[in-house]
Amino acid sequence: LPVVAIVGRPNVGKSTLFNRIINHRLAIVEDKPGVTRDRNYAQAEWLGHKFDLIDTGGITWQNGKLEDEIRAQAEIAIKEADVIVLLVSVVNHMTDLDERIAHLLYRTKKPVILAVNKADNPEQRTDIYDFYSLGLGEPIPVSSVHGTGIGDLLDKIVDAFPKDLDKKEEDEISFSIIGRPNVGKSSIVNKLVGEKRVIVNNEEGTTRDAVDTPFVGEDGSKFRIVDTAGIRRRGRVYEKTEKYSVMRAMAAIEHSDVVCLVLDASTGIREQDKHVAGYAHDAGRGIIIVVNKWDLPKKNSSSGKDFVQIIHQEFQYLNYAPIIFVSAKTGQRLDQIPKMVKKVYKNQNQRIKSSTLNDLLLDASKLVPTPLIKGKRLRVYYMTQVSTNPPTFVVFVNDPDLMHFSYQRFLVNQLRDNFDFRGTPIKIIPRKRK
Ligand code: GDP
Repeated sequence: LPVVAIVGRPNVGKSTLFNRIINHRLAIVEDKPGVTRDRNYAQAEWLGHKFDLIDTGGITWQNGKLEDEIRAQAEIAIKEADVIVLLVSVVNHMTDLDERIAHLLYRTKKPVILAVNKADNPEQRTDIYDFYSLGLGEPIPVSSVHGTGIGDLLDKIVDAFPKDLDKKEEDEISFSIIGRPNVGKSSIVNKLVGEKRVIVNNEEGTTRDAVDTPFVGEDGSKFRIVDTAGIRRRGRVYEKTEKYSVMRAMAAIEHSDVVCLVLDASTGIREQDKHVAGYAHDAGRGIIIVVNKWDLPKKNSSSGKDFVQIIHQEFQYLNYAPIIFVSAKTGQRLDQIPKMVKKVYKNQNQRIKSSTLNDLLLDASKLVPTPLIKGKRLRVYYMTQVSTNPPTFVVFVNDPDLMHFSYQRFLVNQLRDNFDFRGTPIKIIPRKRK
């Protein structure tokens, strides 16, 4: 997907614009305890064109010098985006900082669109012409709070998309290796891809920095590891910030079928591991937990079991994820990663016939009584699979409000017991039967 980044000095309204553009999508994200909701990266859509949107103001650290902050924002936009939106505000007129950001953006060959926010009324809309002097073309007036001008801005953005973004081949399985810094992601990718690794030399600022690495597994299956550039890159100060690495992870998650969450056996589980895991779960992707550096801890016969127990405690909502213990250093069990990716991919794309599902419902009804809420009992009539990846089931009932969370979980467990859904989340949607 094309990537659009919003840059601009503080208080011009970047996050308001971000939320305005992605609004319809956020509404369907349900809250889960322990998952950060502080978004700076999300998918958006305009007239059938899907794209990823980044609020660079939400990524860079807030306690640094303003000068460093805007420089980092501009650098992130130049590296990550296909189209950059420089946001200024008509209320405060033009400031030095606006000019400095514009200057930083001159060195990119990517399209830059100038949007003037807080143009809430007609008089203000005539003031926007001052911003021509930034040298970035025609300023587009918008009001992120009122929602005016957003459509025109989105038209411009969509028009500026590059025409030849790299496409996934039909029979290719894409997966990503995500995790906090130093867990061993790049070591794993290097070992997996070996000599076949594609070295890509991008001229700074011309193409997006996201690079995928294709490789062929032992059995001839085709894979694509998503965003290996993000994994290998090192150096810039902002790249060490947690928000930046979470943003990279979110981008990678959006573009993969299966996500491998790498943990470090030598350090155990940290808070940041959980943030990343939460996003992968919310996105509905297949997930494999890879415990790396398994060569390091002193082990006895129960070490593996103990670690599994800790993982199940810390990531309760990921109890469906297979766990693989590997060492990128010795190469131990690394070959299990593509094998498991293929398995999970198959599981998340499988379809179960309605007749089979209804046999399962019948059996389930004999195991556990349906919930009885305020004297009213849930009746389950029919279940059908409406989509794959993730497998999604609509259950027709007498009253969706009676479909208690615990009963939904029971149905999910029944599905898992009867079919191989390892590695994939399962969605249940209760519907009232008409
Ligand atoms: P990344 O930031 O997640 O890409 O992590 P790197 O791949 O750069 O690895 C971080 C450090 O951990 C490096 O010093 C690696 O050599 C080391 N490392 C990675 N995998 C293993 C492993 O399986 N065992 C041991 N002992 N060290 C590892």
